[in-house]
Amino acid sequence: MSIQQNLSDIKSTLPEHVTLVAVSKTKPVSDLMQAYDAGQRIFGENKIQEMVDKWEQMPKDIEWHMIGHVQTNKVKYMAPFVSLIHGVDSLKLLEEINKQALKNNRIIDCLLQIHIAEEETKFGLDEKELASLLSSTSFNEMKNIRIVGLMGMATFTDNQNQIKKEFLHLKSIFSTDAINRISTMKILSMGMSGDYQLAISCGSTMVRIGSSIFGGRI
Ligand SMILES: *Cc1c(COP(=O)(O)O)cnc(C)c1O
Repeated sequence: MSIQQNLSDIKSTLPEHVTLVAVSKTKPVSDLMQAYDAGQRIFGENKIQEMVDKWEQMPKDIEWHMIGHVQTNKVKYMAPFVSLIHGVDSLKLLEEINKQALKNNRIIDCLLQIHIAEEETKFGLDEKELASLLSSTSFNEMKNIRIVGLMGMATFTDNQNQIKKEFLHLKSIFSTDAINRISTMKILSMGMSGDYQLAISCGSTMVRIGSSIFGGRI
């Protein structure tokens, strides 16, 4: 199957309110260009250096999403161009994004990553940490970041019930008053190749799909 065919198959199943992020990590620019030529304009990468390299080589109407864990000392490299940072999970990181955004005279859109999986290894805020971040003075004084939604990753398991439970948990957090008070909160980023249909049925508005478009990664 071609990248173009995979993309059009997936897009035909997505409701109109759901945005597709084509996750192109580890894939060569030639693969990304096939998706670009088929009309795809949003790409997700999980390593900052790789995203910078691809941004330099590719057309400038692409929206680049950072979907991986972000190291504070590398924010400066993507600050000039990144469209959305999915994995924000600390106030310290947010402060650095705000600082680098200011330097670039930009407002950078961010999602707060929430820990919904069972595994200890997945990054993200728990509900208590989310509440304290949102109520902190520092957060409320930042002018160069905009929190536009939440992101989460389910446990890596075949158990659909467990995945569903975790997605519904994130959806319930997304629907709380504390979140709804923030007028820019519009995006719920959840769902990957294996579980995006389930994620959409649980309220996802943005899916991050890699292997079903570009094929498996080694
Ligand atoms: C790699 C990755 C994806 C895409 O995974 P696929 O299973 O290839 O669709 C989505 N989200 C994040 C955070 C990732 O790191």
